[in-house]
Formats: sequence, structure tokens, C-alpha cells
Amino acid sequence: MSRLIIVSNRVQKPGPDGAQGGLAVALSAALREHKGIWFGWSGETASKFTGHIGLDEYDGVRTATVDLEEQDVDEYYNGYANRTLWPLFHYRMDLAEYVRSFGSGYERVNKRFAETLQPLIESDDAVWVHDYHLIPLAWDLRRQGVKNRMGFFLHTPWPPTRLLVALPHHQRLVQSLFAYDVLGFQTEEWLESFRHYCEKEMGGTIDGDDITVGSRTIKAFACPIGIDYDEFLDAVNSENAKAALTKMRASLQDRAMIVGVDRLDYSKGLEERFQGFEKYLTDHPEMHTHVVLVQVAPPSRGEVKSYQEIRASLEAESGRINGRFAHVDWTPIRYVNKGYPRDQLGGIYRAAKVGLVTPLRDGMNLVAKEYVAAQDPQDPGVLILSRFAGAAQQLTEALLINPYSDEEMADAIHQALTMPLDERKRRWKIMMDEIGETDVVWWRETYVNKLMQAQDVESAEDKLLELSDEE
Ligand code: UDP
Repeated sequence: MSRLIIVSNRVQKPGPDGAQGGLAVALSAALREHKGIWFGWSGETASKFTGHIGLDEYDGVRTATVDLEEQDVDEYYNGYANRTLWPLFHYRMDLAEYVRSFGSGYERVNKRFAETLQPLIESDDAVWVHDYHLIPLAWDLRRQGVKNRMGFFLHTPWPPTRLLVALPHHQRLVQSLFAYDVLGFQTEEWLESFRHYCEKEMGGTIDGDDITVGSRTIKAFACPIGIDYDEFLDAVNSENAKAALTKMRASLQDRAMIVGVDRLDYSKGLEERFQGFEKYLTDHPEMHTHVVLVQVAPPSRGEVKSYQEIRASLEAESGRINGRFAHVDWTPIRYVNKGYPRDQLGGIYRAAKVGLVTPLRDGMNLVAKEYVAAQDPQDPGVLILSRFAGAAQQLTEALLINPYSDEEMADAIHQALTMPLDERKRRWKIMMDEIGETDVVWWRETYVNKLMQAQDVESAEDKLLELSDEE
């Protein structure tokens, strides 16, 4: 069997504490099956990049990590990845920053990754690269002479062409993607945007999964990521989850709970969510003191200014709304700036009659799936989901809303809190079946099968489109 080399920006080393996210668990399972290696940044910095590889192995999963220089982290990670591509890919042209040193830092780190990784790749290996941090990696690996099958999966949205062309050197970035053999997107919508770009900006042609530009044909397909269904249900049924549920219920004192769980990120639409809840409270004074919004929002990317700003404005908004409506014995919004382990989250989700998942744009959104999976089948809560989350294409039985409209959100909250049990059960069952069928195991098997079907090439140069604007 061919080995699988997985590459992602950060490597989550598996360890005895089992503190791994669903994706890490899924990828670790793939690595165990294919006896592969997981390669990426250690999360540490060194004064000088040496290319020294830290090797580790735990429970059949081998990891290989490198340290980056501080300047690399500033330009590649905090810079190009999180201040240029992330906002642009989430349709936030207003927040995307174009700084030349970010672009060159991004290319430098991808090249460093390629040079370090290349000696680890053996002849029959397949390489699977993850996410927007590493778009040009295959191109750099081909330049190192790597002929192996290579695939890329984008966890974020792919933006419409009209937005993407705002990125300086956008063609160069997309041309580099053609060094892969297989591209995976979360939804048909992001795939369509990608195809549109290839046709309009590169003169490409589409035939089924195949996209041809010049003499190069690659496969691109949609493959939505799922949750680790079995593991998550175990977490929901664990003692920790039950304890969290009991604690939540005691603190609610019969009030109806609405829950939001999101990394503190401007793409998650948290300000709009608070304002939608405010509108609900304005429209439904009879519900004052009877409903609570619990928003769990662990801070992320705190070194980036736009994240500091969103944090400050959410503190202001939650304070303002609480000040406007609270009584001495009732606070409408519980805004919590810390994260919880998934078993406790299972109990928190289950305590809530409504899951409010309203990103302005999201590649998939696993919280939406987790909320549904955590519900009591005999008395399930209702998911309110943004139309602009990738998950909305699968979870069509959620109450789908436009997160920018406080009126739609307020109406959906009312509908959810008054929905009859039969309808809740019917909607929940359909979503739960979908979540079980397309779980993370299905996702990785589907992707890896596609990648394994790809052929190696005679010459690595065959796989390269010439990049424009060579610097
Ligand atoms: N999560 C968590 N603890 C928290 C908040 C979130 O473990 O306090 C997990 C959550 O269970 C989910 C993931 O973080 O699995 C978030 O994934 P999602 O796709 O919703 O959003 P992302 O953060 O990747 O944009």
C-alpha cells in the first residue's frame, strides 16, 4: 500500500492525553492506515531556520516538524495567511492587507517546507496538503523534482472571481495550484467559483471533474468535511458531558438557552448575532427573563489587529445589550471568552434549545454539525444556520437565515423556541442522518481514494504551469 504524507501548517502531535481535534483524529487514522508521516510547522520559532526536522511517533502516527523564524511567522502566518488570504477568502475585501513582504514571506516558507520535506518523500508516496497556508507547496516540490501524486484540500471558501482578482499576483497563486493532481473543496459553491476563475482568467476548460489549462489537466471536486461522528457521540455520552449538562441546567433555572460556539473571528458574524438577539428581545418582551444566549468565543489570532478590534467591539456590544435589558436577577447574554474541551461542549450544546450558528461566511462550520449531533433524539433543539456557511448546503432542515438581517434572525429564534416537538424531531432526524453518512471518515476515504487514483508523472516539469510575475 502506498504511504500517505500529510502536510498542514500546524501539526497536532498525537499524545497520551488524547487532546486532539476531530480533523487531527481523522488524519491520524489515515496515517496509521497508510503508514505515513504528518509534516508541518512545530509552532515554535528559532533564531535561524535550519531545516532540522523534529521526528516523533505516537500510537502508529509519525510526525515531522520544523521550527520557523520569527520573521517567517510574521510574514507567512500572521501576514499573508491570516491578514491577506483569510479575509479575502471570507469575502472581506475591506480587511485584506496587501503587503509585499507578506507575499514574499509566504513563498519563502512554502519553499522552505518543500526543501525540507522533499528528502522524506519516497517513490510511491501520495502527498496530501491542507489549506490556504500552503497553496504553492506542490509547485515548490515539483521544482525539487518530486513526481509523486499530490492533492490539496481547501478548508475555507474559495472566493468569487471578482473578489479574488483584487489580490495582487492572483494568477500566480492559482497557477501554482495546477502543480497538484487533485483539488478538494468543501462545497459545490466554492468549486464553482474556482472553475469560474479558471475559465475566465486562465482560458481553462471544464470536463466533469477535469480542469484543463494549457497542457495541464487536474481534477477538482467537492468533498464536504464532517465531524468524527462516533467519537463525538462518545463525547456527548461521557460523564464530563453529563456533568456539564447538569451544571448548565442548574444555572439556567428553567430559562430557555440559545447557544453559540465560535472561535473569536470576524467571519463568524458575532456582532450581527448579538444584534439579532437584541432584535428578538425587542420584539418579544414577554420572553425577557425567560431566555439566555450563551456565547462561547475562545480568542484566536490575537496578534492580528482586526482580531483585537472584533474582540473589543463584542465586549462593547454584549455590555450594551446586557445593560439595556438585564434585571438584577437576569443577564440576557453570557459572553464567555474561553474554550471548552469537546466532551464538555457536548453537554453545553445539549442544554440549548437553539443552536445559533450564523457566520457571515464559513468554509464548512463543524459546530453546526456538532450541535445537531449532541441533541437528545427525544427532545432535540433547533439549529438556526447561516445560508453562507458551507454546512447550509447539507443541513437544509435547519432554519436557514441571512445573518446580516436582524429581523430574519429574530423571527427564526421565535420560530425555533415555539417549534412543535414533531417538527423538531423530523428536522433533526434528516440532519442527523446526513451528518452520520458524511462524517469525517467518509470525507477522508473519499478524498484519499481520489488522490490514490491519480498517476505519477514522467517528469516533474510536466506538472508545472509557468508562474506569472516571477520575482
Ligand atoms: N471548539 C472546541 N472548544 C471550544 C470552541 C470550539 O473544541 O471552546 C471546536 C469545535 O468543537 C469545533 C471546532 O473547534 O470542532 C471549530 O470548527 P469550525 O469548523 O466550527 O470552525 P473553525 O474554528 O474551524 O473556523
